[in-house]
Amino acid sequence: MTQMALVIDLNVCVGCQACVTSCKSWNTSGIAGTLADDRPYGENPTGTFFNRVQTYEVGRFPATDTVHFPKSCLHCEEPPCVPVCPTGASYKRESDGLVLVDYDKCIGCNYCAWACPYGARELDEHRQEMSKCTLCADRIDNPSLPPQDRQPACVMACPTSARLFGDIHDPESIVSVAIREQGGYQLMPEWGTKPSNHYLPRRKVEIKLHEDQLERI
Ligand code: SF4
Ligand code: SF4
Ligand code: SF4
Repeated sequence: MTQMALVIDLNVCVGCQACVTSCKSWNTSGIAGTLADDRPYGENPTGTFFNRVQTYEVGRFPATDTVHFPKSCLHCEEPPCVPVCPTGASYKRESDGLVLVDYDKCIGCNYCAWACPYGARELDEHRQEMSKCTLCADRIDNPSLPPQDRQPACVMACPTSARLFGDIHDPESIVSVAIREQGGYQLMPEWGTKPSNHYLPRRKVEIKLHEDQLERI
């Protein structure tokens, strides 16, 4: 079965927030604003975010580092947010493994948000509907977009190519190759949710200075 996912490279994420703003922009207005009415997979309303980037200082002085950590729904293969839903609104799409919410069925009970161990769901209190990352399913599904644009808005906006998108069950996909070659890992695999999104770890880079640069230090 196909399982689409993001792979996020923490080594090249610079915390610019372009993925946050592009996500917000696309999922608020949708395709030239048409989703405001149909919203097949929901809208990202004021006060909620599908995608957030948190910044941490790690290590001990003088060996410190700044890590930018993008965080959104991980589109788990065994998502605990799905079976707890009393109305069937929360579901996993068979064709590509995306975890989505059917807004016609959602009653805003919040059970799915409590069940998600990653804090990936945020209730739209105005509409009393659950909101979360859809991996821009409306872009992936849209035949009027050119094939290269049928991917999440955040992936297209990232200036450092820190975000990769593809099928983690295809061993030759860009995401599988990156996971294999760079040691991609899942968040809290011990919880048994099998997150589809993976992270590539920070990697040490040796910076070689020229002699004249060394003299100036
Ligand atoms: Fe990081 Fe890319 Fe998001 Fe910028 S757009 S915060 S580099 S993942
Ligand atoms: Fe569900 Fe949370 Fe997994 Fe997303 S990250 S599929 S909301 S359990
Ligand atoms: Fe289902 Fe909506 Fe309740 Fe979540 S908030 S469990 S999607 S009805």
